[in-house]
Amino acid sequence: MLRTLQRIVEEVATASNLDEVLSISVRRVKESMAVDACYIFLADTQSGEYVLMAADGLNPESVGRVRLDLNEGLTGLVGKRKEPVNLEDAAAHPDFRYFPETGEERYHAFLGVPIIHYRQVLGVLAVQQQAQRLFDQDEVAFLVTIAAQLAGAIDHAAVSGGISKLLNSQARSTSFIQGVWGAPGIAIGTIVLLRPFTRLEDVPDRAVEDVAAEEAAFCSTVNALQEELRASGQHRATLLPIEARALFDTYVMLLGSEDLIASTVRRIHDGNWAPGALRDAIAEHARVFDRMEDDYLRARAADIRDIGRHILLRLQSESTTQAQCPDRCVLLGDEISVGQIAEIPMEKLVGIVCMRGSGLAHIAILARVLGIPAVMGLGDLPVGRLDGSEIVVDGYQGRIYIRPSPAVRNEFKRLAKEERKLSAGLGKLRSLPAETLDGARITLHANAGLLSDIALSLASGAEGVGLYRTEFAFMVRDFFPGEEEQYQVYRKVLRAFAPRPVTMRTLDIGGDKPLPYLCVKEDNPYMGWRGIRISLDHPEIFLTQLRAMLRANAGLGNLRLLLPMISQVGEVDEAIGLLARAHQALVDEGLESIKPQVGVMVETPSAIYQLPALAKRVDFFSVGTNDLTQYVLVVDRNNARVAGLYECLHPAVIHAVREVIHRARLGAKPVGVCGEMAGDPAAAIILMGMGIDNLSMAAANIPRVKWVIRSFTRQRARELLDQALELEEAAAIRHMLNAALQQAGLGGLVRAGK
Ligand code: PEP
Ligand code: MG
Repeated sequence: MLRTLQRIVEEVATASNLDEVLSISVRRVKESMAVDACYIFLADTQSGEYVLMAADGLNPESVGRVRLDLNEGLTGLVGKRKEPVNLEDAAAHPDFRYFPETGEERYHAFLGVPIIHYRQVLGVLAVQQQAQRLFDQDEVAFLVTIAAQLAGAIDHAAVSGGISKLLNSQARSTSFIQGVWGAPGIAIGTIVLLRPFTRLEDVPDRAVEDVAAEEAAFCSTVNALQEELRASGQHRATLLPIEARALFDTYVMLLGSEDLIASTVRRIHDGNWAPGALRDAIAEHARVFDRMEDDYLRARAADIRDIGRHILLRLQSESTTQAQCPDRCVLLGDEISVGQIAEIPMEKLVGIVCMRGSGLAHIAILARVLGIPAVMGLGDLPVGRLDGSEIVVDGYQGRIYIRPSPAVRNEFKRLAKEERKLSAGLGKLRSLPAETLDGARITLHANAGLLSDIALSLASGAEGVGLYRTEFAFMVRDFFPGEEEQYQVYRKVLRAFAPRPVTMRTLDIGGDKPLPYLCVKEDNPYMGWRGIRISLDHPEIFLTQLRAMLRANAGLGNLRLLLPMISQVGEVDEAIGLLARAHQALVDEGLESIKPQVGVMVETPSAIYQLPALAKRVDFFSVGTNDLTQYVLVVDRNNARVAGLYECLHPAVIHAVREVIHRARLGAKPVGVCGEMAGDPAAAIILMGMGIDNLSMAAANIPRVKWVIRSFTRQRARELLDQALELEEAAAIRHMLNAALQQAGLGGLVRAGK
């Protein structure tokens, strides 16, 4: 059964559209379960009906015709109950509805299972048989498993199909694709995909500029690859057994297949660039092998795709066709790296859309720092088909609209204008203090990470930098930056803000922040080698960074040092020891060095409980609510699938942060928040109520949070905190705080919340 299941799933994965997914599924399930009929109803949410979408064993004409209400018939019953319905004689059940056009009167036994994707019933997969019998447990388990596996493929094919239809027609869309919030704001622009594409499916169509050059680039790539393989084949000939050599030769032969080359070249002549032509030629060839009955031949489909990927990677450096960067560019990709953002001229980049990750991914944080709207976690969209399309990015709701209708576009233009008005109004607050109505001062700092956001931070009225993420400068390079290079960057930042404080965090890589040149493979990177652990294991890297920071601080004295991912007291002792060593070395060299204040990021549950011991060792605390929320709620901050569970206003997180502030007070040490919670207007009220000293956030959020602080008394914030602590669910807390914002006349900020 497992083998059959795998085969069906593999075959379905190669289908190019929804109809193909469904027809393969019904055919294969009917065959493997040896039943008389198999069919799939899908829910049409617009009409509120189930529609028969594919059938094997029913009258073919009934497909697309039979429709029933979502509560109707045995299909409706399966959907309603969200569990299998297994009947000896379907017609005897009170919910049975007869559709003459299907010809199903011949059948008695019925087994229907729901097709569910992320809690949503997409449809029903059912089998029927003439005999009167109940399906056994193994058969039920098999169908349930198939339905669960199909759900993702059906959802993907449905979304992709919808987009493909849209792109192939002149139609404009009013419907959106839901992802998760990445960075607030609204952008209207043109989609740009960045190379290199690592998957063939992501390659877009692009008009070829010079057909002859493109063809030549393709042919020379294939020849070069063949040559390389042949050469290494000759080397292997002496080492490999004869069977392995035969496999190798088949691979080389497939690579040079006349058919494959001719069909790619034909597509180039039709006007597509080589990578796009290759994508279609490979898909066509692989499909032929996929359909073969013989197991050995079917497995060659994987070779064809592999060859395609090989050629693709090589081809991208040779193809002459480049993506144009339009004036209002929305960068879209499966995963977008900090380095890719750096490739786009900043004045042209208006939005970011990422298929993977959530609002806590570092690319989303960077988008917020830069004030660029972003949507994350859209899943498996046909990325390649979207290149060059118009798009609306709604960073507040986490949605995108591809090829929006004029009505949708106008509505978003209006919202963007309102947004600009609100920001302009808030600009007046720039020089006013962040002071509550009853005179309590909270310092507002900016989070930064690139030299380009210094200007933004200064313009926002930030009183300093509360979190400078030094890792961003490490992520856009091909190897570790040396002391001098780091010194230049840190010096610029410190000088730009002096005498205002700049809190620089030592290298915080690992987790979702891999360095391309420090290859670490871990099953569970968030629990693994990250933050201070890497720095302490590599004193040569850590000391270089500390020296660069201390040198940059000379004559300015506004550096504060922040240690990330502390989970053990000993880590702080070791880090402080290395800091003293770096300081002494500089003094010994006759250079000026002032020891900075040292703080700890409280972002692990263990740091909360160790706070009294930590307070004896450091000068201040900064709560990293992004990681703290992930570790307290056990929700991966980057996983779009569980993004709905990630909420800094969860009662457990509120209690945890309150505890940190309380313990820091007992240790007489100042405490701030530098996670995204600080820039969330609703959460800022709660933090004010707790008596926070400092909030550090993306510069764009500073005016909003200042408005909140200046609109409440600390007493009122305390009352709201007490009310929040009485509530049991995050949604209720957010709702209550949003109502308080509305009541205080700050309704315009509610949209900006999560
Ligand atoms: C945090 O974890 O809250 C934080 C500020 O650090 P980062 O988001 O860079 O992990
Ligand atoms: Mg963190």
